Amino acid sequence: MSSDVDISCDVLIIGAGLAGGSLARQLRLEQPDLDIVVVDRITHFPPGLDEASGEEFSNYANRVLRIGPYLRKHHYVSSGMRFFFDSSGRDLPLDRMSEIGGRSPHPIPTYLIDRPVVEQALCEMNRECGVRVLLGTEVLHCGPGESPAKAITIDGDNGHLVRTTAGVIRCRWLVDAAGEESPIARMLDLVSEDDRNPIAAAWGRFDGCLSLDDLGTKAWRQRVPHWGRASSMTYFMYRGYWIWLMPLSESQYSIGVVFDRRHVQPRVGSGEELLAFLQEHRAVGEILGPDPQPVAFGTRERLARFAKQQFSEQRWFLTGNAGTVLDPMFASGSSRRTTSLSASSSSPTAPAAGTNSRGWCTTTASGCAAGTRSCSTPSATTSRAAPSTPGVPGWHCATGSTTTASSRTRWRTTGFCCTSPARTAPTASATTR
Ligand SMILES: Cc1cc2nc3c(=O)[nH]c(=O)nc-3n(C[C@H](O)[C@H](O)[C@H](O)COP(=O)(O)OP(=O)(O)OC[C@H]3O[C@@H](n4cnc5c(N)ncnc54)[C@H](O)[C@@H]3O)c2cc1C
Repeated sequence: MSSDVDISCDVLIIGAGLAGGSLARQLRLEQPDLDIVVVDRITHFPPGLDEASGEEFSNYANRVLRIGPYLRKHHYVSSGMRFFFDSSGRDLPLDRMSEIGGRSPHPIPTYLIDRPVVEQALCEMNRECGVRVLLGTEVLHCGPGESPAKAITIDGDNGHLVRTTAGVIRCRWLVDAAGEESPIARMLDLVSEDDRNPIAAAWGRFDGCLSLDDLGTKAWRQRVPHWGRASSMTYFMYRGYWIWLMPLSESQYSIGVVFDRRHVQPRVGSGEELLAFLQEHRAVGEILGPDPQPVAFGTRERLARFAKQQFSEQRWFLTGNAGTVLDPMFASGSSRRTTSLSASSSSPTAPAAGTNSRGWCTTTASGCAAGTRSCSTPSATTSRAAPSTPGVPGWHCATGSTTTASSRTRWRTTGFCCTSPARTAPTASATTR
């Protein structure tokens, strides 16, 4: 690869999606001197997969990204998760289904995010604070059947080189936030075929939908006073699959199905097939209304993935969907992204104590020196110094667990864990029939 360099920077982020855009803003706010370049091959963000954020992301968005006021102004504040359980004949009207969901919103606000809108807004915010955001700029040789190794030279000591349509970019830190196309994961063969969680999905945006608060009997509607059900992140549960329903405006919904390929294989390969499948469910069909207009469609045959290494002492990182996709249930994407971004962003700022000449903690198999917190993925280990000030955010491991007793306690007591009984048990907040 030619070493003529067209652009030099401290950090190059491939991908301006939610992961790349958030990381650029976080780094820039925390370290205004860092020279950051973000590249994305697209020039505008198309409507597609929208996102219900979890509580952990709210904390990160408010405190770290400082975009809480923006989110509250331009996106739906969710009134919480709501689960409906249909009959096996899929023929119950909404107000006859079993239901789990709060009567009032959760005290920690979460958001129903119109994704292209927030991605575009992050690009603009990042430009305003000095990040070079190069839309329409593609890392070369990343298409199907191509080898990203022809475009990327990893060199943690002298600077990585990345060939793009805007020329060769040299950077000290390289972040792969390119989603599932992740050139680094492909180049280093980090994601193996793994069918432990064989889930697939299809989704669309539909206009002309009816509000949940316009359906059902008056008595049923009054069981959820004040906010009603319309701004909930709603799930319809079936054997082997579930359907999500997320409002984006008064009449437009993101609706998708996630299914376990071992149990069901619905015909949802096109927008028309997805619509027909959704309409087989009486309640979902009623919400879609008499004349639903498909606005966007997407599908993915394999959803879950896990890159066996996500951080390297050679100063490269994977974040967002490039690193891990678990299951969209419980907005795990936003929570995973938050922990992985927190980890990625602390690396360029690695503290001097206990670090090697490149500013990285040198850990051994037995862990870090006393006074540091560490976390490791199966093949990557890194750490940062334990904060001396109470309340300073600690280290969250990229696998979603933490490694010290104190951090484990905080994790539990703040209720971040999406599998904690507090969030899943139907007792406290149930309005079950
Ligand atoms: C079906 C489904 C439902 C989901 N639902 C939820 C939910 O409700 N809540 C939740 O929290 N999370 C959800 N997620 C996860 C969520 O989508 C991700 O966490 C989030 O979008 C982060 O994406 P990303 O930025 O990592 O990747 P992407 O959004 O995929 O962004 C990657 C970017 O990289 C760019 N790119 C790729 N290759 C190149 C290249 N060679 N050169 C330049 N640019 C490149 C792409 O153009 C793209 O803009 C869901 C995921 C799926 C699949």
